[in-house]
Amino acid sequence: MNIPVTRTTNPKPRPEDETKLGFARYFTDHMFVMEYDEGKGWHSPRIEPHAPFLIEPASAVLHYAQMMFEGMKAYRKPDGSIQLFRPDMNIARMKRTCERMCMPEVPADLFLEGLKAVIYEDRDWIPSAPGTSLYIRPFLFGDEVSFSVLPAQHYRFMIILSPTGSYYAANDGGLTTTRIFVEDEYIRAAPGGTGYAKVGGNYGGGMRASKKAIAYQCKDVLWLDAMEHKYVEEIGTSNAFFRINDEVITAPLDSGTILPGITRNSVIQLLKKWGIKVSERKLSIDDIFAASKDGSLQEIFASGTAAVISPIGWLNYKGEDYTVADTKVGPIAQKLYDNLYGIQTGKVEDDMGWTYPLGF
Ligand SMILES: *Cc1c(COP(=O)(O)O)cnc(C)c1O
Repeated sequence: MNIPVTRTTNPKPRPEDETKLGFARYFTDHMFVMEYDEGKGWHSPRIEPHAPFLIEPASAVLHYAQMMFEGMKAYRKPDGSIQLFRPDMNIARMKRTCERMCMPEVPADLFLEGLKAVIYEDRDWIPSAPGTSLYIRPFLFGDEVSFSVLPAQHYRFMIILSPTGSYYAANDGGLTTTRIFVEDEYIRAAPGGTGYAKVGGNYGGGMRASKKAIAYQCKDVLWLDAMEHKYVEEIGTSNAFFRINDEVITAPLDSGTILPGITRNSVIQLLKKWGIKVSERKLSIDDIFAASKDGSLQEIFASGTAAVISPIGWLNYKGEDYTVADTKVGPIAQKLYDNLYGIQTGKVEDDMGWTYPLGF
């Protein structure tokens, strides 16, 4: 495939300190773009300078949010070469999201070619300090000029890149515990909705709860189910795991309200490999509070591409703190982080077949 490259004539200065990148604060010099027309399919793949672009104000996406995104990372190995982590899973999820949103599927080979091409162009931006990686944000939206609430006839697909550090800010790549707000009023996703898909509307609707969480000095929101406000679902934009009496529990996917995280799936597989009991089942917030009180709540952690593994030290519910064990980083969260991030960065041998070397 021929992907023409228009190089920037005005390269940006690289972030000076790789240990202070934050999450998605800097973007690289280039982006991948292609377009779709009904009847013609995907066309005009290209690499361009990362820059603002024109969009017609009546474009459907700006009004009705027919869009989707993905989140993945490229990692620098100790030998300097670059690899991805389970990109086949992102491709499969992107397909399910596109189906849900009535958008054209992005062919796997076209996606991988475009992704490789743009990462290659900006390979010098990929950091190597502990805890860092190149965050990759593919996204697709309908930009037909139309106010009819129907699938668009024209779409744009883009991939932008950001050298990134830890999502739960300010550390040396090591782990610290955070406080999480239990949200019992607003919901993220309901059965029959779009909770299992990575679509913008899910996140816009969640900001009200995030604001509440911040007001209670919490880092993020623990979402409860929409029907009964009783069962735990996810933590912010990560999946949630609870270790009680040596069983690790996470919400099942069958309600359609849980985003099927690639990190979630990897955590479950690693725990099974290590002989740790792991269950995908409903767990009520009351059972968690009871376990906090009687001492059987051993760990809570969140998992996601951005968050990797984020241990939780406190749950805050209506202004009251419930502690998670001794509030310190738990041993399973630490072991998962070391192994997962180790495999991703090539410091731990990948015996799961999860890594995808880019060949440069
Ligand atoms: C992206 C996301 C996750 C984590 O998925 P990963 O594939 O592990 O990055 C979990 N929950 C929500 C709501 C998300 O948007």
